[in-house]
Amino acid sequence: MRDAYVTVDLSALRDNVRAIRENYPEYRTIIGVVKGDTYGHGVRCAEALCEGGIDTFAVSTMDEALRLREHTGADIFLLEPVRIDDIPVAADAGLILPVSDMDYLKAFLSAAAGYSFRLHIQVDCGFNRLGFKSSDEIEQAVHMINDSPHTLDGIYQHFATAGINDRYYDEQIRRFEELTSGVSLDDIPLVHLCSGVTMVAHPKLPYATAARMGLMMYGYSVAPTSYGRGVKDKLREARDRYYRSRYKLTETITDVSIELRPAMRFSCRILQLKNVSKGEHIGYGAAYTAGEDMRIAILPVGYNNGIGHANRGRQVQIKDKLYSVIGAIGMNMMAVKVDDTVGIDDEVILLGDKITLGMFSRSSGLGLAEALVSIGRSNERIYKDQRS
Ligand SMILES: *Cc1c(COP(=O)(O)O)cnc(C)c1O
Repeated sequence: MRDAYVTVDLSALRDNVRAIRENYPEYRTIIGVVKGDTYGHGVRCAEALCEGGIDTFAVSTMDEALRLREHTGADIFLLEPVRIDDIPVAADAGLILPVSDMDYLKAFLSAAAGYSFRLHIQVDCGFNRLGFKSSDEIEQAVHMINDSPHTLDGIYQHFATAGINDRYYDEQIRRFEELTSGVSLDDIPLVHLCSGVTMVAHPKLPYATAARMGLMMYGYSVAPTSYGRGVKDKLREARDRYYRSRYKLTETITDVSIELRPAMRFSCRILQLKNVSKGEHIGYGAAYTAGEDMRIAILPVGYNNGIGHANRGRQVQIKDKLYSVIGAIGMNMMAVKVDDTVGIDDEVILLGDKITLGMFSRSSGLGLAEALVSIGRSNERIYKDQRS
């Protein structure tokens, strides 16, 4: 048995994509976002994702695009503009490219005159990251592309907020419509505004033909849940309802029922089991003091395994039970308070099964996607496939 390892279930990826496609048939294309080394799952997942129904991938960098090209013949879309010097390489790999401002578009068109690319115009509706911010320039960009050897394959934007009772979501939609008012969206094959949460939490925008999917493909539901039945919940619900009607907010869809299965599991073995007496200290800084006699397990994982150094109530799973991580997290080791049922050969699950990504993320101080990326990158990955 290895010390620490990530298991990636390819059949989960395939099934998740199928479920997304079946539940959202009104989108012509679901663009699979595989930046960050496929959210830590590794580039070889591309094949399973395609089998599930992904025909277009999105990555951040040229390096990622070229690595992905070795694994798939599917469309690859870059989310960030390529360096002008890289245009020949991008052409060779058949990449679909974004254009996000006028100066770049001009430089691109003069350098890429000998090629024929599929291009997507990126619109900035309030994120203030990449993208055009003027409707005149967007209209002009469409004309410039239509008069070039390239084709306008898409237009897109990325939401800064999820629109769960926030006015800024609606404001961003309003800006998109205003910024593209001089453009015939019907003539552009892929119009994509949403990523996972905005797609599931709101009705489809009439002109959207595609959505970009990250976390959901990897098996994590990002749908908002409804409040419970308590008095406070009722009050919150009433407040939200008032807010929605007062500001005419887009409807929020809660408790979306789509069956997703996390593809990643992170496990390790136990290095040593030992007894500690009440009053003894455990770990760096002697920061933890045993409040009672206890049994602890020393694990071969720490922040070097991409799990972060914070310990805000972390737990691990051994067999069917959850146990608390105690003391500081070291570079390559940490301690867990266990009981007599734990044996030296037991598998310890740090992420997966009962340890949800939400639990992991809250207790480690890492974001959801951040946790996946950093665990996947820092550990050996083993692939399994229960083909269905
Ligand atoms: C990462 C990313 C996504 C995917 O977001 P999820 O929340 O994981 O679905 C979509 N669009 C863009 C531009 C991104 O950078």
